[in-house]
Amino acid sequence: MELLSIEEIAKWVDGEIVGAKTPVLVSDISTDSRTLKTGDCFIALRGRNFDGMDFVADAVQKGAVAVVVDREPRSSASLSIPVIRVRDSLEALQRLARFYRKELKAKIVAITGSSGKTSTKEMVGSVLSQKYKTVCTSGNFNNQIGLPLSLLRMDKTTEYGVFELGTNHPGEIGVLAQLAAPDIVIITNIGSAHVGNFGSVDTLAKEKTDLLSFVSAKGVAILSDDDYWSKRLHTRSVGQVIWVGNQQNSVCWLDRLEMTERGIRYGICRHKEKFEVFLPTVSREMAKNSLFAAAVGFLSCLSSEEIAAGLRKTYFPAGRLTVHPIKNGFLIDDSYNANPESMLSALRALIEFPFPSKKIAIMGSMGELGSKSSAFHSMIGSFAGGLPLWSVILIGPNWKDMLEGFQSSSFPTDCIFGAEDIEEAYYCLRKLLNGRVTLLVKGSRFLKLDRIVEKVLCL
Ligand code: ATP
Ligand code: MG
Repeated sequence: MELLSIEEIAKWVDGEIVGAKTPVLVSDISTDSRTLKTGDCFIALRGRNFDGMDFVADAVQKGAVAVVVDREPRSSASLSIPVIRVRDSLEALQRLARFYRKELKAKIVAITGSSGKTSTKEMVGSVLSQKYKTVCTSGNFNNQIGLPLSLLRMDKTTEYGVFELGTNHPGEIGVLAQLAAPDIVIITNIGSAHVGNFGSVDTLAKEKTDLLSFVSAKGVAILSDDDYWSKRLHTRSVGQVIWVGNQQNSVCWLDRLEMTERGIRYGICRHKEKFEVFLPTVSREMAKNSLFAAAVGFLSCLSSEEIAAGLRKTYFPAGRLTVHPIKNGFLIDDSYNANPESMLSALRALIEFPFPSKKIAIMGSMGELGSKSSAFHSMIGSFAGGLPLWSVILIGPNWKDMLEGFQSSSFPTDCIFGAEDIEEAYYCLRKLLNGRVTLLVKGSRFLKLDRIVEKVLCL
């Protein structure tokens, strides 16, 4: 972040300086006293489990040079430094990020969608970094706190900012998009993730495509040519719309994929040009996501060599189709999260993984699917029942719904195991781990299936 004066911050957050009136320069913004550095301004947010007001004294002791609060500070320690009193601390953080972003010349890429936001953000970031000074959302910081903190990580030398925008409830994308004021927007796809919080996929699709109305007039929206909702709602964009995907009249499309144990080799086509790419991950959908990064690269004057180099160097965060060698085979760790579309995608990736072996899937329940949850789980079961899997272990509150789906297929019932908890799932798995194996671990975050991954990696 650029150095900011306390007066500047107070003006942007619409606050009043009430503590010590000493002039100070702030080097960074912190909302967590555990990671606060000397010279930071601490914004005391109220969370579900913690109240930032309880950590003001700690922040001052660690070297905070100012604090932003929306109530009377309980600790007298804060009186030794400027205190900015505001109406609402979260609103203050967001106002600060919005004004700060406006001061900078960086071009902003904002990414939303049901699946693949973080992975696409990593690919876009890696591609742009080949030529430009680029700041990306770190990890999955995609919400009303994470996005402002990510925007504040840019400085005057930043040429591109690449940010993930997440939404769990109606209205959130609009708030985030206003902060980011994007030049380029990407909607990876619109599926059923979190549909339980939106009531219907129509409402969810409207929420995701809200991002299109926040792209600058000279900006560009990049959409997927095989996404049903993007095709229906693209006219909401106030900027130009370009398409990527499978169709040859799109800006970029995929050609001939070859799966390897280390990643995917394929061609990216653009007009009459085609270039070869290697992406260090293992699903077709990830290759499709890479087209967004290629399109951003071309819009930003990168060569196809630079785009290919960026894609090759992409780091995919843990639990997103991470391939680990294990004894006699491989483990595909997709335990970070799950929704119906990403579950189908991961199962296909397991089947297409080119190591000749028994294919075993640990399939965990998918959360936040609302009233259609049972139907979604049963659908996944019947899809998986048609795949050449060796055996499956079903786990989580909806495992019986998945079982019902399997039973509607011709999948052998003695190859299906239901597990009540991690221990039971692991116990079943141990008996199956003989001979050459490729194992997929996939399920929603709340199940914490990464604990199974850890156990298998320790074998
Ligand atoms: P979250 O909403 O939890 O932040 P996200 O949208 O950021 O998720 P990622 O973390 O990039 O998504 O990926 C989550 C999972 O989605 C990956 O493990 C991958 O298997 C799957 N995935 C990625 N892209 C797609 C896609 N285009 N279609 C279906 N599944 C996908
Ligand atoms: Mg994410």
